[in-house]
Amino acid sequence: MNKRALIFLLGVVCIVVSFVSVLALMKPANNEPIPVDEQSTPVFKPTTPEPTIETTLTPEPTVSPSPAPNSSIDPTKPMIALTFDDGPAKSTDRILDILEGYNARATFFVIGDMAMKNGQYIQRAVALGCEIGNHTQTHKVALKGISAEEVMQQIDPLDEYLIELIGRPAKYIRPPWGTFDKTALDAFGRPVILWSVDTRDWETRNSEQIVEHIKTHVFDGAILLMHDLYPETAEAVGIIVPWLIDQGYQLVTVGELFEAKGIELLAGHAYRSAIVTD
Ligand SMILES: [Zn+2]
Repeated sequence: MNKRALIFLLGVVCIVVSFVSVLALMKPANNEPIPVDEQSTPVFKPTTPEPTIETTLTPEPTVSPSPAPNSSIDPTKPMIALTFDDGPAKSTDRILDILEGYNARATFFVIGDMAMKNGQYIQRAVALGCEIGNHTQTHKVALKGISAEEVMQQIDPLDEYLIELIGRPAKYIRPPWGTFDKTALDAFGRPVILWSVDTRDWETRNSEQIVEHIKTHVFDGAILLMHDLYPETAEAVGIIVPWLIDQGYQLVTVGELFEAKGIELLAGHAYRSAIVTD
């Protein structure tokens, strides 16, 4: 019985061993082609042209826009500088109401004799982001054919008053009637700002004509001349400011205009507009 059982067990073991060895020989033969196929597929993936396109696109973002001096100003869009001479006066306050209502700014070339009577309007203008220029103390002396000392007698008293009132002198000079010579230009020690669009509001005293003149003459980079002495001018400002904004113009100060246009304002030079001549 023991011998028979042993022989039977050996027979079973032999059959099992031979069966397993046959299976072991067959399995690797079946599995081998699979890794070859798996290896062949990733070979094609890196050859796709997509990554090369990505690398050629990366240099483009280096064209970065230059930072705007005022976050609300877009240097790529048109802009103008409204300027008001001969004040400040009662109409200045009305003009400031309009500018404030439309988040617009302007530059005021004030007369010393007027400024010393109406300083509160200058303070309000500065608080609204407007700029102040020097239009001489009396507006009675032509800054031509006189000495540098005589020229500065017309400039210094107003500057001293402005330092007391707003903490700094005028940034620019606008000589009365736009009249000056080389002696005066050198004496000022800061830029002269003239104008490119003269509304002649002092002559017409007619709001419709002032509005029409601006509509037909305005251009990107222009400096507009008005006078904040007259109620007709203030009335025209109330009409023209929303019209200009509707046309896409940004209403900025002289300093903002030139900075946005990339033009440095220099002492000893006079400017009529912010047109880039290159
Ligand atoms: Zn004037």
